[in-house]
Amino acid sequence: MIIVMRTDATPEEIVAITGRLEEAGAMAQVSAGTKRTVIGVIGSVDTVRSIPWETLPGVERRVSLTAPLRFVSREAQPEDTIIEIGDIKIGGGTLTVIAGPCAVEGRDQLFETGKAVKAAGAHILRGDAFKPRTSPYSFQGLGKEGLELLSEARDTLGMPFVAEVIDPRDVEMVASHADIVRIGSRNMANFPLLKEVGRQPKPVQLKRGFTSTIDEWLNAAEYIYKEGNHHIILVERGIRTFETASRNTLDITAVPIVQSVSHLPVFVDPSHSSGKRSLVPPLTKAAVAVGADGIMVDVHPHPDQALVDGNQALLPADFQELMGDVRRLADAVGRPLA
Ligand code: PEP
Ligand code: MN
Repeated sequence: MIIVMRTDATPEEIVAITGRLEEAGAMAQVSAGTKRTVIGVIGSVDTVRSIPWETLPGVERRVSLTAPLRFVSREAQPEDTIIEIGDIKIGGGTLTVIAGPCAVEGRDQLFETGKAVKAAGAHILRGDAFKPRTSPYSFQGLGKEGLELLSEARDTLGMPFVAEVIDPRDVEMVASHADIVRIGSRNMANFPLLKEVGRQPKPVQLKRGFTSTIDEWLNAAEYIYKEGNHHIILVERGIRTFETASRNTLDITAVPIVQSVSHLPVFVDPSHSSGKRSLVPPLTKAAVAVGADGIMVDVHPHPDQALVDGNQALLPADFQELMGDVRRLADAVGRPLA
């Protein structure tokens, strides 16, 4: 364990921390840098771990070294990662909006949605050609034809798009069309797939596994980064809890936690988090207020006819209205739209 002191920590505060460590049975190794002091803890026994170090005067944070994140942590890179897609900059203090249908179902559905979300101010289009469905009998996506339609929509609307890849054998095909490739929640711990997307150059969106801890999620990002792809966008999409009133429980707390330990941008998907249209606007606003780097929202012109996730899709008019609130909130929290 390491205790990182604040840049304005006083010598007395540093002495108080080393004293507490020794009292708790550990040895303190003080290393004074030009800007701040870092205290290495030798012998992190349980009594040391249970002390709320972050609440003590002069302490900025504690860093656990049990599973080191060599690349995606703020220790490795203090400044935010900024990912550029054309003139869109993701991360670094702006808010990026991704919207579109859960799945591409056909040209009319895709273009109608794409036009509407673009007019409402979304920066990036979403739409999947490969869907990871619970039942093998449910609609699985249009495959290559879906990717071709998405590419056509990008060229016509002037809007980059993100699409999911679910099979390592399809990474090259999806990446040759999409501007961002996505690893979905079910595949967050599919290590061969993570390595494969890490070896191609398009930015990668990495959703949190619905039963994964933040640490497991960041380690999944580490797999991608380690292979050479440093353009990773994390997406909190809700986790499975005992609560059944919503599809998942949006872990809004994960956003500031991940932003403090990692330099990667963190988005929120209010649609898959909630599974319910009526919950999408309030969760979107919560995401903007908490300081997310972006949001990704399902929109469908005819949700009652949607082949996937119609219950959670906003109508284009609802999305347009929501964007008004998003703009006002983004201004209020000092995070202008990208
Ligand atoms: C999706 O975004 O369409 C999706 C399948 O989400 P998740 O992987 O979070 O379930
Ligand atoms: Mn979906």
